[in-house]
Amino acid sequence: MHNAAFAALGLNWRYLACEARPENLRAAIEGARVMGFMGLNLTVPHKLLALDIVDALDVSAKVWGAVNTIRFEGRSTNGDWLPLRLFEKDPPVEIRSVGFNTDADGLANSLREDLKMELRGKRVLLLGAGGAGRSAALKLATEGVAELFLVNRTHSKALEIQTEIQKNFPSVRAGLDYPKTDVDLILNATSLGLKPDDTLPLDEKAFPLRPTHAVYDMIYRPAETALLKAAKTAGGKTANGLGMLLHQGAKAFEIWTGETAPLGVMRRALEQNIYGN
Ligand code: NAP
Repeated sequence: MHNAAFAALGLNWRYLACEARPENLRAAIEGARVMGFMGLNLTVPHKLLALDIVDALDVSAKVWGAVNTIRFEGRSTNGDWLPLRLFEKDPPVEIRSVGFNTDADGLANSLREDLKMELRGKRVLLLGAGGAGRSAALKLATEGVAELFLVNRTHSKALEIQTEIQKNFPSVRAGLDYPKTDVDLILNATSLGLKPDDTLPLDEKAFPLRPTHAVYDMIYRPAETALLKAAKTAGGKTANGLGMLLHQGAKAFEIWTGETAPLGVMRRALEQNIYGN
């Protein structure tokens, strides 16, 4: 999606996938810095490790406690740090790395675009309390949801998130277990659904799917998980996690380039790459 976006904007840039072992992350970031990379994306397990490696942290990385995007910045003659893109003709002597996090915004933007859902005042059943589940819970709380129901196989992890929300967002009611009444949104942040023989992440006996429930599955491969299929059969609105992937990427694109991301081009490139259509 990034290469398609660079081409659409006429930028002579390339997005490459590289592997680095966690113990070499510092060297990898340093290598990218001295070779004049504009930025980087990081994935698990580098997101947490990078917090202690980058030279500075944007507020987004501080809030979410993880770095998924790095921007390299040069020091201008008047001492300001500016994105490297602004130095194309005259490379700076001093370059620093700045860590950002675009994951949480990616989810909120996708819920808005794909389910047409504004989160303020909504009641949400969140399945899963791993890395993505925790970020989702905190993002939903910052967006002003009224109530969150946290369900996870390992109860203690849901409890930890509940405690964090009660401490930092006292206006959001955070419960453990399935709600007794209806919700506006069911959000799957477990990895159940990645494999064809996975069980549903939702206990349908405890909480049956209804047409009034919008269901979002963070999984995007397969395009339709068993949960999304069941939700559609029940008559509810559904969306998969492709939009979340798209929007976290679009935000990173804007951080590096300073340009508005060409969302349509990026979505088409993703769909072609992931689903072959
Ligand atoms: P993670 O930290 O490993 O968490 C996995 C979650 O799934 C935990 O809540 C775990 O429960 C639950 N789980 C795993 N196997 C289970 C099983 N057999 N039965 C019940 N629960 C089970 O992973 P993550 O980073 O949070 O990612 C979670 C999902 O979100 C993945 O499918 C990932 O692909 C997706 N994701 C999508 C995007 C996107 O851009 N669309 C971004 C990030 C993540 P326990 O706590 O009990 O282990």
